[in-house]
Parts: sequence; structure tokens; C-alpha cells
Amino acid sequence: MRQIAIYGKGGIGKSTTTQNLTSALGEMGKKIMIVGCDPKADSTRLLLGGLCQQTVLDTLREEGEDVELDDILKPGFADIMCVESGGPEPGVGCAGRGIITSINLLESLGAYEADLDYVFYDVLGDVVCGGFAMPIREGKAQEIYIVASGELMALYAANNIAKGIQKYAKTGGTRLGGIICNSRKVDNELELLQAFANELGTQLIYFVPRDNLVQRAEINKKTVIDYDPTSGQADEYRNLARAIDQNKMFVVPKPMEQDRLEELMITHGILG
Ligand code: ATP
Ligand code: MG
Repeated sequence: MRQIAIYGKGGIGKSTTTQNLTSALGEMGKKIMIVGCDPKADSTRLLLGGLCQQTVLDTLREEGEDVELDDILKPGFADIMCVESGGPEPGVGCAGRGIITSINLLESLGAYEADLDYVFYDVLGDVVCGGFAMPIREGKAQEIYIVASGELMALYAANNIAKGIQKYAKTGGTRLGGIICNSRKVDNELELLQAFANELGTQLIYFVPRDNLVQRAEINKKTVIDYDPTSGQADEYRNLARAIDQNKMFVVPKPMEQDRLEELMITHGILG
């Protein structure tokens, strides 16, 4: 079983990319579970056809310790098993702790079946914040992909995430599997992302083009793979899925200084 965490700046496309990519893996016959680690609980919306998922934390609040696996684990598109960890009531408590509670509960209820090929964690926020580092800190996810784009803030966040991975890699087996570019159509984006990945000692594992079809599918509460399976964008996600399925490059990243990051932007990015 490969356990994979997806990190990246807020709004970069983690949830969309994860659901499309897992849909493509599902089409390939893989058995998958997605654990949404975001209080918004929108990590599985496109697989379930809406936000109908009861979160783990809500279920625990309502039912106490009597939770059954079926209450919190729902099959979605391509039989992907969907869980949303949920969050504390707004303004109260640490969302990161909720993730720990959820993963522990899933384990004790036997959600991590032996025949699962993949578990994906769609993680909100920056890995440097304690609770959200949970999937990698506790050694659950051994493999990380960072979603980024050619925008400075996306690369800044990606570099910070690499710092977190480097830190946790010392004590555990967590490795970076690559950078996924979710294109924002910035000039020279492919070249910049390749240079950025190189500098970190990793690879640009795939370049996902920007396409309004993604949003059209989203409004219809579907992944692109489900909504328009013959489209070019669906094939892009299939290629991404294949690249991850066949990936053999796992590294401890070498994060860079802020100055170096800005230099890269100037040499390869919009100013290049
Ligand atoms: P958050 O940090 O809030 O959880 P996120 O990183 O999970 O955000 P998403 O919710 O997946 O980001 O995506 C943000 C928006 O970008 C969505 O409306 C989605 O439809 C759009 N989007 C993502 N990828 C693409 C793409 N390749 N082409 C066009 N639109 C995209
Ligand atoms: Mg998200």
C-alpha cells in the first residue's frame, strides 16, 4: 500500500488534482482511499457528487464512540473510498488534532485494508504547522507530492513545504516524489518549474494544463474523468496518474534560500 500526501499553497488545486488523479488510478483498477484532511471537507466532493459526506469529527460528536466504518467511509466514483476528517467548530480547537483523531479512528476500525493500493491525504495548509504535518510526521504518508505553479507565492509555499519534509525525513521515511505543476499559464512556467524541481533535488513529475473544463466539471460536482472522459484534460490526469504509479524517484528535498528562489524566478520565470 502506498500512502501519499498532497501538499501545496491554498487554492493551488490540491483537491481537484487529487480527485482527478485518483479517478484515473481507479480507472486503471487500483483500489484507493482518500482521506480529506481539510476542515472545509471538500476533498471528496467531486467523487461523491456533492458535499454529502458526514465528517469523522461530526460523527464522533454526534455518536460518541459508537462510530462504524460505514458512517464515515463512503464509496465514490471508481469505488474510491472517501473520508472527510472535518474540523473542530470554527474558532475552537486545533484542526490538526482532528486529523490525528480521524486517522487513529480509521485505523482502529480497519479502514486500512490490506488490499488497498493507495491512500491519499489531501492536506490543507503548510506542512510546517504541527497538526497538518500529521500524515507525514507520524509516518503514515511515506510519499509526498507538492502541487505548485509558476507564481512566486506557490513556489514560496512549495519551498517551505520542502523544508518541512526535510525535517521529518530525518526521523521517518518520508520522501518527496515530485512537484506537480498545476498551470496558471504564467510565462515560461514549464521551464521555471523544471528548474525549481531540479534545485530541490526532485523532479517535475507532471505539468497539468489549465483548462476551464475543470471548473465546468466542478460545477457539475464531478471530476473531469467522470464528466468528460474523452477530453484532452482527462488524458492529462491519466498521464499524471501513470507517472505517479510508475514513479521511482523519492528524495529528501534540499530547500533553497529565499534569495535563490527569487533568482530562479528572474532567470527562468516571467522575467526570463
Ligand atoms: P484549498 O487550499 O482551499 O483546499 P485546493 O488547493 O484544494 O484549495 P482546489 O479547490 O482543488 O484547490 O482548486 C481551486 C480552484 O481551481 C477550483 O475552483 C478548481 O476548479 C480550479 N482548478 C484547479 N485545477 C485547475 C486546472 N487545471 N484548470 C482550471 N481550473 C483548475
Ligand atoms: Mg482543497
